[in-house]
Amino acid sequence: MYDEEDLLPLSALQHLVFCERQWGLIHLEGIWTENRLTAEGRHIHDRAHLRESESRGDLRIVRGLRLRSLRFGLSAKADIVEFHRIKIDECGPQDPPGVQLHNTSGSWRPYPVEYKRGRPKTDDSDRVQLCAQALCLEEMLAVPVPIGCLFYGKKHRRYEIALDEQLRRRTEELAHRLHQLTENGVTPPGTYGKKCRRCSLLEQCMPKLAGHRSARGYIERFLSQIEQETET
Ligand code: SF4
Repeated sequence: MYDEEDLLPLSALQHLVFCERQWGLIHLEGIWTENRLTAEGRHIHDRAHLRESESRGDLRIVRGLRLRSLRFGLSAKADIVEFHRIKIDECGPQDPPGVQLHNTSGSWRPYPVEYKRGRPKTDDSDRVQLCAQALCLEEMLAVPVPIGCLFYGKKHRRYEIALDEQLRRRTEELAHRLHQLTENGVTPPGTYGKKCRRCSLLEQCMPKLAGHRSARGYIERFLSQIEQETET
């Protein structure tokens, strides 16, 4: 179990899946460059948080809910958490129980919805992020969250995601790795590859310069070398 002050941002998991070095540059060195893709992504998230929570029949929509898991050491603000009323006649004995909501009757099933720009990715970063939100909800509400969904702006449609054992294990391992790397405090090295062309930190990272673990360290060494050369 982690203490409140040791919680790390859940959104860091997606950087970790994409590239551990990118995670280090953003979360350890505080380097962030916005490109068209990240700006579009931010816009979609801002829009998701803009509207108030709402209620439509058997559906409750809660925006910007604060999530946290002391077990996995993560915290976040969810885009949207829907609560679906469990219909007694459609409910079998093996179905997971729901939660009671304030000022409502019946039982409700939490269903996280994560907004993304673009299309579904080839890696599992979005599914991991969604699953981590579900793990937080399960810990906070003490009910199972077996499914959630990802909404992609380019496709303008939802994809329902089963939060199965394999995805849960992967998410738990990544949360553990996130804490390990944070404690270590050193930006992991990077290897130049296809994904670097999509990376907003390509210029700062300089992945072709093998051996420079910290971009900031490299720049500092470079500047001090110039200073020494001007002094002599
Ligand atoms: S440029 Fe490549 S190695 Fe560097 S952070 Fe981005 S993806 Fe990782």
